[in-house]
Amino acid sequence: MVDSSKTVNNDSVVGENATTDDLENKKPSNFLRQIIDKDLAASTVKSIVTRFPPEPNGHLHIGHAKAICLNFGLAQDYNGECHLRFDDTNPEKESAEFIKAITDDISWLGFKWHGDIRFASNYFDQLHGFANELIAKGLAYVCDLSAEEARTYRGTLTEPGTNSPHRERTVEENTALFAKMTAGDFDEGACVLRAKIDMAAPNVNLRDPIIYRIRKVTHHQTGDKWCVYPTYDFTHGQSDAIEGITHSICTLEFEDHKPLYNWFLEQLSVPSTPRQFEFSRLNVNYTVTSKRKLKRLVDDAVVTGWDDPRMPTISGMRRRGYAPESIRNFCAATGVTRVNGIVDMAMLEFAVREHHNVNAPRAMVVINPLKVVITNYPDDKTEQLIAPNHPQNEAMGSRIVPFAKTFYIDKEDFREEANKKFKRLVIGKKVRLRNAYVVMADSVVKDAQGEITEVHVTYDPATLGQDPTDGIKAKGVIQWVSADTAKPITVRLYDRLFDQESPEKASDTETGENDFMSCVNPDSYTELSHCVAEPSLLEAKPEQVLQFEREGYFVADRYDHSSEQPVFNKTIGLRDSWPKQEQS
Ligand code: ATP
Ligand code: MG
Repeated sequence: MVDSSKTVNNDSVVGENATTDDLENKKPSNFLRQIIDKDLAASTVKSIVTRFPPEPNGHLHIGHAKAICLNFGLAQDYNGECHLRFDDTNPEKESAEFIKAITDDISWLGFKWHGDIRFASNYFDQLHGFANELIAKGLAYVCDLSAEEARTYRGTLTEPGTNSPHRERTVEENTALFAKMTAGDFDEGACVLRAKIDMAAPNVNLRDPIIYRIRKVTHHQTGDKWCVYPTYDFTHGQSDAIEGITHSICTLEFEDHKPLYNWFLEQLSVPSTPRQFEFSRLNVNYTVTSKRKLKRLVDDAVVTGWDDPRMPTISGMRRRGYAPESIRNFCAATGVTRVNGIVDMAMLEFAVREHHNVNAPRAMVVINPLKVVITNYPDDKTEQLIAPNHPQNEAMGSRIVPFAKTFYIDKEDFREEANKKFKRLVIGKKVRLRNAYVVMADSVVKDAQGEITEVHVTYDPATLGQDPTDGIKAKGVIQWVSADTAKPITVRLYDRLFDQESPEKASDTETGENDFMSCVNPDSYTELSHCVAEPSLLEAKPEQVLQFEREGYFVADRYDHSSEQPVFNKTIGLRDSWPKQEQS
């Protein structure tokens, strides 16, 4: 693209919505900030340490983005630290590939974790020691009940559980059995180590929960060192304590686990006492935010992978052309509360448009080309017109757009006859070609089937950047691409992945069963290969977002785009075309 040499004050306001891009910096207060303010004022903590603890069993989604913005954002604002700790206690479901994807996502979102990447598995030795500490205190026992039996012993929400027949094993017995479990002397499922708390506790999480189980699988970090692994519940609080986490922030579903976490912290010789605070999960309509469900979309090949541009994953949104700023702004705008709700997808899309409107350079692309010939333009002439890259921001420079006798416009932008509402090209009417002249349509050429193959127009040479001298202004402006220099590009169009507002509530029409897969939008992907673009588009680098004038925002595909074979993904249209569904 050609750069304008003009100097423009960088502080000048760009576009109408420039100021809202700062939303995340305004940081409205929330209950977590109030707690932190108090803790710092009372010197309960010297400085704050938060953490983001993903399980590396899939790609992160928009809900995780919220947890990331919250934890990293608080640490940033209060000059504290935020750790990245992989909660890797389920080696069967985890992989190094997911670890890589997650770290890439966090960096791309614009956050940096304090120190090295941490793993709960870094603490397996200490956690094993904690398990032995509980055994030694008579607070843990090896239990041989099968999973099925354990379930019946557990009781229900309304009825207390029953003590396991192995609950009264001696400390010596338990120490020896746990050592044998650890040495691999038992088969998977033969026994587990359980905390000895209270089988009649109203909170079922306290009914002698499992703290260690046998899994004879290789772990992505610790290899074959272990064949017993701690449960998530036994790992989480102690890992926080080892790392000196001051504010352990998680989603509301862990509120019921807090008494258990605190019980462990009270019994064990942990180096610090983290406190847990819960906030509500982010849910967004027209999509699902659960790794398990997203995995099903990947496994069933409904999408091309975790980073398919239709996925609500961070990698998917990245490939779709969402800016990290938009995602951060959206997360800030949704607020931090303890009330569960569903956020409208339009709010996320608004944040996406708002950022690109200010930041995306403009370009001209014709999605469905229709040939136009200027009958009064010289055959061999080509003009190099200058087009601004952004209508409101001169600092973004300009580019050269070749103009000649034959060019393409979109089929949608021409009609032989039309009413006044159609402000595009019509026989006998004028239209302005963006960044170029005003033309008037005179006639059409049709093929044997009656399809229009060519439109003949006359141009007014005095209208480059000027209104026509006859006083009859052109009603509309349309984009165009000169035929000689037109570059073929592939355009991938995406729509929402689900066609119902609450995919979780959708049910299969045949079985009547609840299944989010039943409302997958069958028309969420279209690939067009006949589109044409102005030559400057060949300079776009992968991941560059542009506004294709009058069409929307498009991103050069992160993987498939090259200057030889340009591939652009539609990020989003210029306007919201999904009016909110009537609530029934
Ligand atoms: P999923 O249900 O999608 O598998 P998860 O909670 O099991 O999510 P983790 O990898 O364990 O996934 O999550 C890491 C962190 O992200 C946790 O602290 C969790 O509370 C938070 N998180 C997950 N989903 C959301 C969400 N929808 N909104 C806000 N935070 C979330
Ligand atoms: Mg989890």
